[in-house]
Amino acid sequence: MFEIIFMEDNHNCETCGSDYALGYIIKKDGEIVIDKTPVATCYDGAHYDQNEAYLDLIRLHDIEVDISHEVINEYEYRFEDEYNV
Ligand SMILES: [Zn+2]
Repeated sequence: MFEIIFMEDNHNCETCGSDYALGYIIKKDGEIVIDKTPVATCYDGAHYDQNEAYLDLIRLHDIEVDISHEVINEYEYRFEDEYNV
């Protein structure tokens, strides 16, 4: 069984303020197979896009996936939109 554990790390520094980082680990039968543990720190922390967890899970199964992004209907921004109620 695979297990995805989403993680959040927090760090507070008197000089830099607070930082937080997101990440995850994936386990298979209790063993860690993907380690993207987040590290919140003053700089050079480790942040991982949590959406990637599912991609990693797919990759672990040697399934090739082509992911793309298409815009069906482009939204045309009009200045008046902001003021018309
Ligand atoms: Zn700091």
